[in-house]
Amino acid sequence: MLSLFFSTLLTLNALVIQVSGPDDPIAKKARKIHQRVLTLDTHADAPIMMQKPGFDVGVSHDTKKDGSQIDFPRMKKGGMDAMFFAVYTAQGPRTDSGHAEAKRNALNQFDLVHQALKKYPDLAELATSPADAYRIQKAGKRAVFIGMENGYPIGKDLSMLKTYYDLGCRYITLTHFANNLIGDSSTDPDGPIYGGLSDFGKQVVPEMNRLGILIDVSHVADSTFYDALALSKAPVIASHSNCRALCDFPRNMTDDMIKAIAAKGGVVQVNFVSDYLKKPSDAHRAAKTKIRMAGVGKILSGDMKARLEAQSDSVAKVYASERASLSDIVDHIDHIVKLVGIDHVGIGSDFDGGGGVNGLEDVSEIENLTAELVRRKYSEADIAKIWGGNLLRVLGQAKVQ
Ligand SMILES: [Zn+2]
Repeated sequence: MLSLFFSTLLTLNALVIQVSGPDDPIAKKARKIHQRVLTLDTHADAPIMMQKPGFDVGVSHDTKKDGSQIDFPRMKKGGMDAMFFAVYTAQGPRTDSGHAEAKRNALNQFDLVHQALKKYPDLAELATSPADAYRIQKAGKRAVFIGMENGYPIGKDLSMLKTYYDLGCRYITLTHFANNLIGDSSTDPDGPIYGGLSDFGKQVVPEMNRLGILIDVSHVADSTFYDALALSKAPVIASHSNCRALCDFPRNMTDDMIKAIAAKGGVVQVNFVSDYLKKPSDAHRAAKTKIRMAGVGKILSGDMKARLEAQSDSVAKVYASERASLSDIVDHIDHIVKLVGIDHVGIGSDFDGGGGVNGLEDVSEIENLTAELVRRKYSEADIAKIWGGNLLRVLGQAKVQ
């Protein structure tokens, strides 16, 4: 019995190798499509790595060695044409000094991205419009857009929106893990403050419309989502959000929210974060939440950050068997397509910010995702929409007076 079991297993293994090898017709077809379409990812936390001393985004790194998942050479290797680098600030105290620190931190990250682009003009270029993305792709370079994750660095000062726009910012995720002055987050441990957008948030949204900065509703509370959607004159995006119907978590979107985004012409960009793709066990989720919440509302020292990172690594090791895979990502894409059609879904990996699943460890492996889409019978036109066409359509509609 046992030997029969093993020989069956060997045969199965051989089959798996055969169907997923480079000569497999699906892999060949996927490669051609992957090279032709413009691939765009709306949520890359590369600036987190770029803030680390000695990290150079212009040279190739090994994710197994330093945990980094993005650099220009690996983007090229993986056929990733465009990424939104996220200027991310953790939510700290909602005080004048907290806001001043967030602003300093954000401006430093814009500067780091601009410096890197200046250093490697042959590898990558700043993009701020759909036309830029297509032009830079044609030139064989990487298009780097800038988004801002957490509106915390706006503080109380509406005029900062223009400052960030002028530095290249084209979307702002209104909140992160905790409430800020703009509105309620989906995951603040203290619960809601405003019941949606604050009065200040109700000024932020129209100003973003006026400038042409997309409103990003990833991370916000459901009430903030509906407020922002009702107030925005432009379609809104979820730069990195998954489906609550498949993985029940407040940070994921309900079917009703996905339908509402689509009805307004917007797009939901599916992320690669295991916890938001496939529901972890209660013990696993509790361990992670504890680490995440240890930093909320505080200004973290380097030591504290390193300690939290180490704790997070060990939790990932303990619960490795619960990690999601590539097919889970495509399950979320399928769900959105079934709900609202092909025009309202895209990709926002969250690489360098918690993204990464079995079969898709860094940006150099994104062709695997295209292959899975081909396997599930998506056409080239569909794949072009998922991989960037939909998002660029919405970006072209960001500015509404
Ligand atoms: Zn995020």
